[in-house]
Amino acid sequence: MAGLEMGWDGANLWVMSKDHHQISRWKYDRPPSLQQFMTDFPDDAACADWLARKRWPDGFVCPSSEYRHGWKLESKPWTFECAGCGKQTSVTAGTIMHRTHLPLRTWFLAAHLVATHSNGISALQIMAKLGIGSYKSAWLLLQKLRKSMVDPEREPLDGIIEIDETSIVHRTKDDSVAGGQGRSHEGKMLIAGAVECLPDGRPGRIRLEVIQDYSAKTLQDFVRRNTTAGSTALTDGFSSYRNLEGRTHQRKVVGSMDAHVLLPWIHRVFSDLKRLALGVYHGFRRRHIQAYLDEFVFRWNRRRHTRSAFDSLLGICLKAQPVSYRMLVDGV
Ligand SMILES: [Zn+2]
Repeated sequence: MAGLEMGWDGANLWVMSKDHHQISRWKYDRPPSLQQFMTDFPDDAACADWLARKRWPDGFVCPSSEYRHGWKLESKPWTFECAGCGKQTSVTAGTIMHRTHLPLRTWFLAAHLVATHSNGISALQIMAKLGIGSYKSAWLLLQKLRKSMVDPEREPLDGIIEIDETSIVHRTKDDSVAGGQGRSHEGKMLIAGAVECLPDGRPGRIRLEVIQDYSAKTLQDFVRRNTTAGSTALTDGFSSYRNLEGRTHQRKVVGSMDAHVLLPWIHRVFSDLKRLALGVYHGFRRRHIQAYLDEFVFRWNRRRHTRSAFDSLLGICLKAQPVSYRMLVDGV
């Protein structure tokens, strides 16, 4: 392009004419490079500033008195003091980063890695990449980020939705992958899944949940909570989906035709999930399987928006309640 200059400012692509009169900018949801990340967040104070801006976009508001004036304390880099009631509030208060022993920048870097990794990232990898001292700290950090992956205000799936169920082998205590013999569910977890089918034929958002059984009560409850009333459910015709209340139900049964052909997207989701379970995690651990499913769903639903995945990961963190180690370990 003669006489034109192109560039990238971290969030936009731009084209400029030679006399520096700007012509065009395009938002481009590319993940920020690690280099860009390091520039944006050089230290803990920069991370704290980012959190404060997200939390109080119009300036500090005291959570106790709702007084709208306060100042940043010099002695504590991410703590504000209310000018009305004098109460001190940390920017991490009420978030999953509250009372953390890890530097804020470690949280940010971990969120960046989680948001930009196309598959999953294990606690061992996080530990090595971030130089975290113990496996327990790395695992806890990752588990807290996973807890923040479900936006409590997310909208149910809508339109035409493929729905199916599957089972997945899980790791037992001795760390090997246990497989059932097909007769019982021992060593296997049951999972229900749903995928939106977009008008252009591509898959949209997904949902995955651990379920206790394949009963009509369980599966219909899954459909009710995860889809809008009036949406259309496509299933393989399994009897538990009969008489779905408030949903149009289409059974895709054509003789003995393979379910992979009839419900292509949910089967793609299930096979990707199983590959991830064995590849990155060497088998999911039973107690934490819903957290892994939430991570998979988060990654899938934001696969074309990795830049905003980082923002929402930390943004959602601000909405999530603080979680204790005990709550995570016990899977509460
Ligand atoms: Zn106050």
